[in-house]
Amino acid sequence: MRLSRFFMPILKENPKEAEIVSHRLMLRAGMIRQQSQGIYSWLPLGKKVLDKVNTIIREEQNRAGAIELSMPTLQSAELWQESGRYDAYGKEMLRIKDRQDRPMLYGPTNEEMVTDIFRSSVKSYKDLPLNLYHIQLKFRDEIRPRFGTMRSREFMMKDAYSFDLTREGAEHSYNKMFAAYLRTFDRLGLRAIPMRADTGPIGGNLSHEFIILADTGESEVFCHKDFVGFDIPGANTDFDSVEGLKAIFDKWTSLYAATSEMHDEAAFNAVPEGDRLSARGIEVGHIFYFGTKYSEPMGAKVQGPDGKEHFVHMGSYGIGPTRLVPAIIEASHDENGIIWPASVAPFDVVVINMKAGDEACDDTCELIYAALTKAGKDVLYDDTGDRAGTKFATADLIGVPVQIIAGPRAVANGEIEVKDRKTGARETMTIEAAINRFVA
Ligand code: ATP
Ligand code: MG
Repeated sequence: MRLSRFFMPILKENPKEAEIVSHRLMLRAGMIRQQSQGIYSWLPLGKKVLDKVNTIIREEQNRAGAIELSMPTLQSAELWQESGRYDAYGKEMLRIKDRQDRPMLYGPTNEEMVTDIFRSSVKSYKDLPLNLYHIQLKFRDEIRPRFGTMRSREFMMKDAYSFDLTREGAEHSYNKMFAAYLRTFDRLGLRAIPMRADTGPIGGNLSHEFIILADTGESEVFCHKDFVGFDIPGANTDFDSVEGLKAIFDKWTSLYAATSEMHDEAAFNAVPEGDRLSARGIEVGHIFYFGTKYSEPMGAKVQGPDGKEHFVHMGSYGIGPTRLVPAIIEASHDENGIIWPASVAPFDVVVINMKAGDEACDDTCELIYAALTKAGKDVLYDDTGDRAGTKFATADLIGVPVQIIAGPRAVANGEIEVKDRKTGARETMTIEAAINRFVA
C-alpha cells in the first residue's frame, strides 16, 4: 500500500477526550473515529488490525471444534420473552419497533437466538456435542461508555454457544473453550489470566473471566503471580481428549485468581505474601456454563440414548475483539506510539522514502516495495512528500514492527537502514541483504 493512496488520518495533537493511552494512540494513528457516543467507525488502519485479531480468534475457535455461522444484529423480542430476559435485561438493551409496530431489539448477546436455531433442527444426542459461534456487532446501552472502543455501546463480540447432552459433556466443551482462549490471547501477544467470575445476567454456576493485567483496567483483580509464567497449551493440543483438557483446566485453576466480585480475602491471604499479585485488569473474554437455563424455557431438547428427551446443557463463550485492540496497545506501546506484536500488525514492514522525488531514493524504495510485496509481505510504502522527521514519527506512531529507511546518502552507497520498532535497533545493510532478510 502506498501511503499517498491510503486513508490514514493522523492527528498531530493529542485528542483531549482520550483519558487512556490506547484511546489516545488509536485516535492519533487514525484507526477509529467516534460517530456518536460509544459508537465508532473503524478506519482502514484500525480495520486491518481488527481483521487480524478476528482471524486468530477464528483459527483457534475452529481448532477447538467450534463452527462459524452468522446471526443478525436485530432480533425479535419474542425470543427474549420466551427466555424471560426481555423484561429482566433492563436499560442496556436497545429496544426498537418496526413499521408493523413489532418489538425488536439490537442484540446485546445471542443465547436465545442460537437456542432457537438449535431447537429447530437438532433432535438427537447423536448430533452432539455442538458449538456454534459468530463474530458480530452487539449493542449495549452502557451507562458510561468510555476509553474509546474499550467500553463502547456498539462493539464486536465473538460469541460461541455449546450444546451437550450431559453436564459432564458440557464441562468438556467448557474446557475446550478454556484452552482455546489461552491460545488465542497468547497468539495476540497477551498474557490473560482466567479468574473465577460472577455469572451476572447470563446466569449459571461455572464461569471464568480472562483478564489482562493493566494499570488502566477497570476491574480490581487478585491472583497468584505464578500465572504470569504458566505454559500455554500447544498447537498440537488434542481437543477431543477429556483428560488432557481437564488437566489444562486444573492447572490453570490450581492457584488463586479472582475478580473483586468473587474475591475471598481469607483465601488470598493464604497465598504466601511474596506471591500475591493485586492489580488492575481488563476483561477480554468471559466463559459460562449455565446448564439448562435457556434450553428449559425455550424447549431445546434432544432424544438421549435412553430414548427419553433431555434438555440440553449449554455454555456461552465471549471475546471482545474491539476491546482487544486497545488492550493490546495498553500492553505494548512506548512514548512514541504503538508497538504491534507481529501477529496483529497492520503491515509487516513500512518502507520510508526520506526524499521522495530523488531518483535514487525512489528507485530503491520501488524495488524493495515490489520485492517484498511479491514475497507476500504486507508493505506500507511512505512515498509522500512529507519531511523525513514527520515520516519517522508516523512510522513509530502506527507501530509497524520493521521500518526500512532509504535516505539519499546511504542509497548512494547501495545501502538502506533497517529499524526494529520495538528495540529501536538500527542496522545498515545492502539493498539485497534487506530484501533477502524479509523474503527468506
Ligand atoms: P464488562 O464486565 O466489561 O461490562 P460483560 O461482563 O458485560 O463486560 P460479557 O457479557 O462477558 O461482558 O461479554 C463478553 C466480552 O465482550 C467481554 O469479555 C468483553 O471482552 C466484551 N465486551 C463486553 N462489553 C463490552 C463493551 N461495552 N465494549 C467493548 N467490549 C465489550
Ligand atoms: Mg463478562
